[in-house]
Amino acid sequence: MRGRRAFVFGLDCASPELWFARWREELPVISALCAEGTYGPLHSVHPPITIPAWAAMLTGCDPGQLGLYGFRGRRSRQARTATLHDATDLEVPTLWDLLGRDGRESIVVGFPPSYPPRPLRGHLVSGMLTPPGADDWTFPASLRDEVAGWVGSDRGYAFDAEAHRGPDPGQLRDEVFEMTRTRFDVVRRLVRSRPWDFGFVHEIGLDRLQHAYWGSLASPDSAESEILRDYHRLLDAEIGETLELLPDDAIVCVVSDHGARPFEGSFRLNEWLRRQAELWLGDDAGELDAVEVAERLRRHDFLRVLLTILGVVDFGMNIQEGLDAPRFHHQWLPDLIAHEHFGFSPDTRALLQAKGHSFNERKSQGQAQGIVYDAKADLLEGGHDKRAPDSAAIGH
Ligand SMILES: [Zn+2]
Repeated sequence: MRGRRAFVFGLDCASPELWFARWREELPVISALCAEGTYGPLHSVHPPITIPAWAAMLTGCDPGQLGLYGFRGRRSRQARTATLHDATDLEVPTLWDLLGRDGRESIVVGFPPSYPPRPLRGHLVSGMLTPPGADDWTFPASLRDEVAGWVGSDRGYAFDAEAHRGPDPGQLRDEVFEMTRTRFDVVRRLVRSRPWDFGFVHEIGLDRLQHAYWGSLASPDSAESEILRDYHRLLDAEIGETLELLPDDAIVCVVSDHGARPFEGSFRLNEWLRRQAELWLGDDAGELDAVEVAERLRRHDFLRVLLTILGVVDFGMNIQEGLDAPRFHHQWLPDLIAHEHFGFSPDTRALLQAKGHSFNERKSQGQAQGIVYDAKADLLEGGHDKRAPDSAAIGH
């Protein structure tokens, strides 16, 4: 007899403010799951990007352990250009790999870095990033013709949407809606016809529509906002129809990898440093003599500025923590990670060593003083580098 089974619905880019608030009343399946179970916003990984986020969710490893930080990465330490990640870059077991070792069967549809398919105990249809024209997108390979036969569309099984935002919002809508209906139909056929203990489906449609139409949410009556609402209803209904096939005691999770926000602008660190005359690119330095360049570089060491800004902006440190944080440096060649004494924990060193890194421990990597301006509170917060005992941060 099978033990208790589990099914995970992975909705790319699902936003808590829409699912749990704005449209909750119109989404009966999700509303019922929320009422019967538990729900809330999930923290994503850092960086909150599709590939590392789903890989982290289904392996339990963070992006650093996985070596996955986005859609692209360098294949080897020697490679100079970044290439699109695929399943061969996933070097740790996924949840279904571990379940398979325990004799459990899985159904996996659309997991992002799953092309080319790795053998598993169960059935797999690969996901977005499957190259166009690929013919080896299932495991076992014989499943492909069966899935193709289930799909009524003459375009074949769609891994992702190809249309982008254009003058006619209907084109992207039609493509995404058809893709999602087909995907869930394939999932249900597998659930009905194959043995399974664990199921996972990933749907990219929400991400594609929200990239195109998120801005329209401010005008609820617009055609684009209506498309987003209808698509939420479609997903809710497709999940509901699938739940009807699951045993009553099945463990059900609906999860996402990140939400969505309006794009209001970006801070280009290089450009800002350039305007402050702290960074030179290519010919910028042409008018300075070599001594002046060396002197400015010494004064304005980019590394300590960058690490401090990253600590504050991306890791939520206050300015003092950002300045105190151990500094490290890698500049491609020489291929060495320089770091301060106690800069990395023994665990981190061991993980990096296993990936082939070597280290150069230094006493300190420069000194910096910093002031953060909190515009909301109209407050200046100063931080002083503990590496420099006789200096201070002074603001006006
Ligand atoms: Zn995503």
